[in-house]
Amino acid sequence: MLHILHQIAKTGIKSETAPTADEDMVVVARLQKTILRTLGRALTIRHIDAGSCNGCELEIQALTNPYYNLEGIGIRFVASPRHADMLLVTGPVSKHMAIALQRTYDATPEPKLVVAVGDCGCTGGIFGQSYASLGGVASVIPVDVAIPGCPPAPRALLQGILAAISAYAPPVAPAVDRAPVEPTLRPSDGPDAP
Ligand code: SF4
Repeated sequence: MLHILHQIAKTGIKSETAPTADEDMVVVARLQKTILRTLGRALTIRHIDAGSCNGCELEIQALTNPYYNLEGIGIRFVASPRHADMLLVTGPVSKHMAIALQRTYDATPEPKLVVAVGDCGCTGGIFGQSYASLGGVASVIPVDVAIPGCPPAPRALLQGILAAISAYAPPVAPAVDRAPVEPTLRPSDGPDAP
C-alpha cells in the first residue's frame, strides 16, 4: 500500500486539463446555428470525386466527425444523386469523369445546388486543363458556390454550404418569443397509475 502511495506522490497528476473553447469552435458553433435556422429541414449531399488527389476528400471526411455535428444540424451525405439536394464536387474534372458528372447532375432533382470544392474544383488548380483534365467543375455543370483552398478546411466547407443554401433559402422569419412549454403528466403517467 505504502509503495502505491509513494508511486502516486512521485508521479503526480499526468492528465491534461480540458481544452478551453477556441476561436474555431466558436465560429463553427455560430455557423451551425445559422445553417439550422436557414435550413429548417434536412439537407442531403451527394459527394462526387471528379478527379481529386483525395486531399479534399480528407477534409470532407473531417467535416463528418462529431466535432462539426452535421447530422445534428440536419445535414447528411447520401449515396444516390436522386436523394440529394446538393452536389459537393471535388477535383478538376478529369475527362473520363465528365460524362459521369453530367449524368449525376441530370439525375439530381430540382431545385439542386452545386458546390465546387478546392482550388481544383474552382479553376482546375495545379492540374489546370490538359489532355486528361477539363479544369474546374463549371466547365461541365453549373456551379452555385466555389470554395477555394488546397484543400479547404472543414470550416470553409461549412461556410460554403451555408453560402449555397442562403442564396436559395426563403427569408428567415423573425424569431417569435414563445412561452416555454411545460411537460404535463397524463393521469395514467402518474406514480399511482396501475
Ligand atoms: S484542391 Fe488541392 S487537395 Fe483538393 S484535389 Fe486539388 S490538389 Fe488535391
